[in-house]
Amino acid sequence: GAKNRSASAWCFFHEGMTFAAHERLALEARLRKALELDHMRLFYQPQIDLATGRLVGAEALVRWLDPEEGLISPARFIPVAESSGVIGPLGLWVLREACSQGQRWREAGMPDIIVAVNVSLHQFLLTDIAGATAEVLRETGFPASQLELEITESALATQPEEALAVLKRLRELGLRLAIDDFGTGYSSLAHLKRFPLDLLKIDQGFIRDIPHSTDDMSISSSVIALGHAMGLKVLAEGVETREQLQFLQQKGCDYMQGYLCSRPLPAADFMQLLEKTHAGQPLVELLPEVDE
Ligand code: C2E
Ligand code: MG
Ligand code: MG
Ligand code: MG
Repeated sequence: GAKNRSASAWCFFHEGMTFAAHERLALEARLRKALELDHMRLFYQPQIDLATGRLVGAEALVRWLDPEEGLISPARFIPVAESSGVIGPLGLWVLREACSQGQRWREAGMPDIIVAVNVSLHQFLLTDIAGATAEVLRETGFPASQLELEITESALATQPEEALAVLKRLRELGLRLAIDDFGTGYSSLAHLKRFPLDLLKIDQGFIRDIPHSTDDMSISSSVIALGHAMGLKVLAEGVETREQLQFLQQKGCDYMQGYLCSRPLPAADFMQLLEKTHAGQPLVELLPEVDE
């Protein structure tokens, strides 16, 4: 009867919870081990200047290279790293690796390259991100002015006063600061204008359906105008089609990232792209069928 059904439903739910908790703990242990064993890798996705078509920077994106499972996406392990505290050592590893790589690219003839590093909520509010960053910049010799930290809008909205204090310390180091996934996090414009920022990254959710969604076209062009009115640069994420590129160029968006130009690449493959752009070739023109 109904009673039995609800009892067994409850049991199922309960067992499900236990399984999920167990799986989480197992994943946390594997993650710590993977860090120790040097199984983390950074991929780099090109950031393109829309006015010139040139590659100006790279966003570092972490992957876990498991000997059995292969590449594991950050969506699967960043949440566990955040809730378990592993984000402290993992975040430090990412910063150190990204800055060392950036310094190698500078030495290889890309003196101005910007390297962008993601910082998640707990990493931003609960670890000494400013101290860790200062230390890594000293160790690697990478200039603060070429390191950009990406912080999600929701991290800034959760505790705006604390966030402002951290942003000010980072700004004192001379770093560039970006808001990631802009438009998804309910931050108030009153707070936003007090934060010392350089860049808004329009979330890919607003780019994906351009040019079919007129709402998304309005939102994206409003964010570009808002960013510019606040003295910020604007980057569009997740650009996959030439129509999207043209729309963004028309609206005066400053930078783009997306599969249209390149997926995130291992450092060696990214270096090959750099070599092509050394020859003076804008990255966007490397694509077939360019108009204008
Ligand atoms: P995010 O910072 O917003 O990064 C953009 C994500 O969009 C990346 O996924 C990238 O591979 C993907 N992407 C780029 N271009 C396109 C496109 O044209 N189409 C589509 N469909 N996707 C595109 P990824 O690498 O799986 O990273 C997911 C999220 O994980 C990141 O979102 C970021 O929040 C987090 N994450 C990645 N690396 C790190 C890290 O080192 N530290 C921290 N704390 N978080 C990280
Ligand atoms: Mg990002
Ligand atoms: Mg993003
Ligand atoms: Mg995201």
